[in-house]
Order: sequence, then structure tokens, then C-alpha cells
Amino acid sequence: MNNIVEILISNNCFDQTGPLSDTIKEKIAVADSAMYATSACTYKGEVFCLRKAPRARKLMIIKPGDDDPGKEFAGSVMKITAGGRDVFIKECAASAQNAGALRKTLPFTAPSILGLEASIGMGDRLGIATPGHIRAAAGYDIRPIFPQQSIREMERTSRTPQQVMDDACWSVFQEGYREPFGADADHLKTEDDVRRTAGAGFTFYTIDPSAQLNHDADDMSGSRLVQAFDALFNDDAEKAAMVKRYTENDISLTDPDTGFTATFIFDEIKLARIAVKYYPAVKHTIKLHALLVELLGSAGNFDFEMSVDETSQPTTPEEHLFVAAELKANAISAQSLAPRYIGEFQKGIDYIGDIDMLRDSLLLHALIARCMGPYKLSIHSGSDKFSVFPVIGELTRGLFHEKTAGTSYIEAIRIVARHAPALYREIHKFALSRFEHDRATYHVTTDLAKIPVVGTLSDNELEPLMDENNARQLIHITYGSVLTHKDDAGNFVFYDRIMDVLDEFEEEHYAALEKHFRRHIVSFGVKRIAGP
Ligand SMILES: [Zn+2]
Repeated sequence: MNNIVEILISNNCFDQTGPLSDTIKEKIAVADSAMYATSACTYKGEVFCLRKAPRARKLMIIKPGDDDPGKEFAGSVMKITAGGRDVFIKECAASAQNAGALRKTLPFTAPSILGLEASIGMGDRLGIATPGHIRAAAGYDIRPIFPQQSIREMERTSRTPQQVMDDACWSVFQEGYREPFGADADHLKTEDDVRRTAGAGFTFYTIDPSAQLNHDADDMSGSRLVQAFDALFNDDAEKAAMVKRYTENDISLTDPDTGFTATFIFDEIKLARIAVKYYPAVKHTIKLHALLVELLGSAGNFDFEMSVDETSQPTTPEEHLFVAAELKANAISAQSLAPRYIGEFQKGIDYIGDIDMLRDSLLLHALIARCMGPYKLSIHSGSDKFSVFPVIGELTRGLFHEKTAGTSYIEAIRIVARHAPALYREIHKFALSRFEHDRATYHVTTDLAKIPVVGTLSDNELEPLMDENNARQLIHITYGSVLTHKDDAGNFVFYDRIMDVLDEFEEEHYAALEKHFRRHIVSFGVKRIAGP
């Protein structure tokens, strides 16, 4: 650390506030290759920087003449003498307490509200992918979301909402990233899910009321449908108001910019079917929204999404319109909404379906989102849907939010296949044994028979498996089993070895992620706005 302190003193780094110059960062990188020089910055006379430690990161806070630098941070202080001065260095673990202090002291490390700006969520199941995500998004006209995890993913990876948040914030600090980013608590289903994630400081809440959706409505007829419709309401007046809202006049929507108009016609039977299917889900969403307002003070303090993407049937434009109108009638302004689109958005592979049909229906969904909000159309399971991103970018004209999660994990395993083929072979075989069990909660059409037997492949033929759809889904879906699998003695079988490989080939891992996500961003037609 002496060399670094000499550099800081001789360049008067303690007298300024903000990031250090590129020249000084280069000197720091040369003096200590374990230091993330991009992180170095000064705040109120103290220099903050992040240092790499085996499978961990340490925050270093450096200040001359004060034996307790970074008073809000917990750590151990050592004294060195440099440039004729006593300089104190506090070494702090990347703990939850220190992450909280970091967000307070250096607010650019804390997530913020993004509103209606085009955005891409890049969930990270390992907690170390964010630097690659930052490099992919930096300089492009899109807002990134780094902490983004569904409750299901957190359970499968044994991570808490706070860990998901903190891992991403440390990475923002590591890269010296200073643009706004969001934090998406994804697929929240219960009050408990909302409370846990609100406590961890998320800024974007995605409510998934799929448990309240009544799929039987599609097959109901006659008196059964009428009874179910009547049962939705507290009294006749409530029902009459809804019937009037949709059936009194046809509903015409016109895009204010393009003049594109569509007319939606409801009769009482059509309305009843849609309401029986969706109204309880809307009410549940409204209830959880109210809880968020109570916990966070006001609806202006968070971004809000309702998602119904994980259903078997596509959301029709009329169903989408109904959901949007009911949210609006309850004064809820969502920043995004995720219908289930036609065709298949399977995990980790490109779109399956007729793109022209998708285009026709997206035109209506985008119109509804623009006229009934405006809010963004949210594209869940967005990983690698390269053939449809241009259409989505074009039709939404920037009013979109894309979510990806598992595709980062596949890029991590790509690095394992490249550099640790024996470990990859073990993971692959274990994944095959877990697949039937793990696929239960996903909709995929993976054909395991199409994946080559790894025993017949040379080491060089392993990485290309990460470009083959069936192998991608095999790896994508079994992440929870692989990452948490323990031997009889209670030790992780794969997790530590995967993390060691990614630690050793850190820059290659980031580069793979950067390349992969840059392709996502550019495919939407997002423009470059800064940088080289
Ligand atoms: Zn989703």
C-alpha cells in the first residue's frame, strides 16, 4: 500500500472530491495489480478504492492524519508513513453493513428510480457479473438494472435480497460507474416478498399475481361464467360501473405521434370472461402496491411493474387493456407491464414463433401501453431473443424494459468450459441428472437427446455447447441445483470451483458478458451516446 499512498500524496489526491484522473488510476494499477483502479475516488479528504482479495473484495479507505478514516465503515486500521506524514488505512470487508455505508457515502453506488427511460435488467445469479453488465451498457442510451432477482432465483441460489443488492453495489463502485441504475425485486407474489425486498432497498418492484389468475375462465360458459363474474364484486353498483366502463362505448385508442388507431369492442360476455380471469389478479396487485406505498412513503418513491408473463395462454390486447384500465381506475401508475406475448419466450434461447404475428400483436400492446399509461412494455425471459429485439425496439419507440437473468450464468459456464473442461464435464453430467426435476417450474421444450454425449467430445468441443439451444437450456435451468449441491461433509461440490475459475479469469468473464449484452442492447436499436 505504501506505493499507492505515495502516488496519492504526491498528486494531492486528498484535496479533491470525485473520481481520480485516468493518469493517477493508471499509476495505481501499475503499483498494485490487485487494486481495482477504476474504483479510486476521493470524498471529503478520504480516498476510497476497492482491492481484489481471493474470492472477495476489500474496501480500502485512506486518509492522512486521522486514525479512524471512514468512520461509518467497520474495519481494521493500520498506520504507515509516507511523504513525511502519518497515513491511516482502513481495510473493510464487503459486508452488508459496509455496503450500507458505501451507498450513503458515495450515492452513485445506490440504485435509483428510472421512470419511463428504456431499460435493461441484467440479473446476476452469482453476484459477480455486474462489471460485465456495466461495460455492456456504458455509453448507450439505455438505463441498466443490476440487482434484479426473482424470489424463485434467490431461493434456488440461497441468496438474500440484501446480498443481491450489495453484490451489485460493490461492483458499481468497482467499475466507477456513475450513471443511474435501477434495482428490480422481480416476480414478487406475496406481502412477505414485498416486505423483504423493500427492506433491502430495491427501487423497482415487479408484482406477479399469477396465483390469482383464473385460467378456468377461458372454458366457462353460460351460468357458470355469469356466477363467477357476479362473485367478483362487493355489490351491484361496482359491477354496473365496470360493465358501463367497457360496454357503453367501443374503446378507441390513437397513438398521439403516429395517428395509429385501434378500436376495442367488449360485450358483457367477453368482459365477464376477462374479468373473471384477471380482476382478482389486478386486485392483488393493487393490494401489494398499497403495501409498497405504506413501506416506502409514496408511489413516487419506486418504479412499479405488473407481470403476467408466466402463464400458458398469451395475453390478448383486450385483456391487456382491461388490466391497464383497472390499474388506472385505481390511480396506480405503473412504469411497465409485462403481458405474455404470443409465440414462445423460452429461457436462454431465441424467440420461437411467427415474427409477423408477434409484430401484429405487439403493435396493439404498444399502443395500449402508450395510451393507457404511458408505461413501458416489459419483455420477460428476454435473454437472447435477438430475432425479435429489432421489432420490439421499433414498435415501442423506446418504451420498453427488457429482463434477462440466466443468460449471464451461461456466459459464466462458458468460461468454465473454456478453462476447466474437467469441471465442466462434471457439471454437465450432474445437470443431466437434475434436469427432469428442475424443469418443472419452467416452460421449455429442451430435447436432451440432441445434446452430444460429453464423453465423446474433446475439450475444445465443450465451449461450443454454450451456443447450442438444448445444452444452453440444460445449463440455464439447473443453476440452482448446481450452485447449491453439497457433498456428505456439507461442502459445495461445484460452487467454489466455479467461482475460483471466474476469479482467475475475471477479465475474460467480464469480456464475455460485455460482448453478449452489448449484442442485446444494440439489437433493440439503442444508440451509442458517449465514449470512444
Ligand atoms: Zn418474468
